[in-house]
Amino acid sequence: MSQEQHYSFFQSVERSFDKAAGFTKWDKGILEQIKACNAVYQIKFPVRIGDTVQVIEAYRVQHSHHKLPCKGGIRFSDEVNQDEVMALAALMTYKCAIVNVPFGGAKGGIRINPRNYTPFQLEAITRRYTAELVKKNFIGPGTDVPAPDYGTGEREMSWILDTYMSLRPGEIDGYGCVTGKPVSQGGVRGRTEATGLGVFYGLRELCNIKEDMDRIGLTTGIEGKRVVVQGMGNVGYHAAKYFHEAGAKVICLIEWDGAIFNENGLNPDEVLMHKKATGSIINFPGATNLNKNTDGLELDCEILIPAALENVIDKHNAPNVKAKIIGEAANGPLTPEADEILNKKGVIIVPDMFLNAGGVTVSYFEWLKNLSHVRYGRLGKRFDENMNIHILQTIEDLTGKKVSDKERKFIAHGADEVDLVYSGLEETMHAALHEVRDAMIANPQIHDMRTAAYVVAINKVGAAYEQLGIFP
Ligand code: GLU
Repeated sequence: MSQEQHYSFFQSVERSFDKAAGFTKWDKGILEQIKACNAVYQIKFPVRIGDTVQVIEAYRVQHSHHKLPCKGGIRFSDEVNQDEVMALAALMTYKCAIVNVPFGGAKGGIRINPRNYTPFQLEAITRRYTAELVKKNFIGPGTDVPAPDYGTGEREMSWILDTYMSLRPGEIDGYGCVTGKPVSQGGVRGRTEATGLGVFYGLRELCNIKEDMDRIGLTTGIEGKRVVVQGMGNVGYHAAKYFHEAGAKVICLIEWDGAIFNENGLNPDEVLMHKKATGSIINFPGATNLNKNTDGLELDCEILIPAALENVIDKHNAPNVKAKIIGEAANGPLTPEADEILNKKGVIIVPDMFLNAGGVTVSYFEWLKNLSHVRYGRLGKRFDENMNIHILQTIEDLTGKKVSDKERKFIAHGADEVDLVYSGLEETMHAALHEVRDAMIANPQIHDMRTAAYVVAINKVGAAYEQLGIFP
């Protein structure tokens, strides 16, 4: 990661916010209210590691309470610090607003490199962290709901759930205290791939807009487009997989320890198997290893998808980036200087707060499922047929219109949970993309999607704060 650091991560979020705020009607007071992090909780707690005691540093930041609960992942990384968690929490606020998910923004982080700990030790750290959050009311289905992020997944979410339920026994909605859980523990089908799939849906929709593709000299559609993906974690792997399946050529995959290149395209599933077998993506059969992992970012391609960490494209490598579209699957992968350089070059930068919102969108479905205590999807053939034919009839009577084939399939036959999740995610990403584009079209002075996305988010959060008033 580059240490250009003219601006801290939180300061660069504030900078983008300020640039967009000028295009909104809000006065300084309300803008300051939106921008500020409402609560920052720093924790240091001891954990026994073998014969020694280690003091672990961790955070939970609630950026905005304009809607509750607050929502956002928990990251395990030795780069975690207060500024980073604050920035990520702020991005969650704007992200939720853009996709109309009714949550405030939050984020958590534990400053550890998970590779240095055994699963038992990671469990102890996760459980103690959860207990600290419970003590201070920084977790709960109605207050603050964590989820996976960099370095965490289903396993950690299960530990969080179990710890919460042990400390708050009998809480009827307790399962909604965390999302990204395994399906057998109240999770929802489709959550694991949601962020990567959302990245794909968002970029595919953009690539179908002829006007935008004409502007950057590309044909419409995904097929044949050369794609470079940085990060083979959950988000990067799934994004790469969906692009590959749609006929794009994933010519380069980049990981922290190296990058591989094949101009004819790589199959992300095979690369993942190779990584599982050897511990690394490098030396993948048929591919060339690149000298440095950062070289992949500068390859000639149509779509570059940074899906790892923040600040990977800075003022030093931005001038060499050749991609026509940058899809920010990671949070904050471009420094403000890189953003400026690439915008001037005419690159379409699809901002993080829209493009990676698929994760929190499906987290919302999971949370709703937990709170409503229902099972999504098919309830049984007989029940579905009788119930759904009745619903179909009622809809057609009420609207005087025949329902579409797609809706008919869902309603008449009962959709699987995963169909419902994918279709909800697809529509959410499409609607959000067009809302952001419309904000750009409505104001010709806005030249980039990030500013437009901030305008959309600021307007929604601002309206909520204005309606709520100020206590006391
Ligand atoms: N960590 C993910 C993000 O940054 C998901 C958050 C969530 O599902 O609450 O968007």
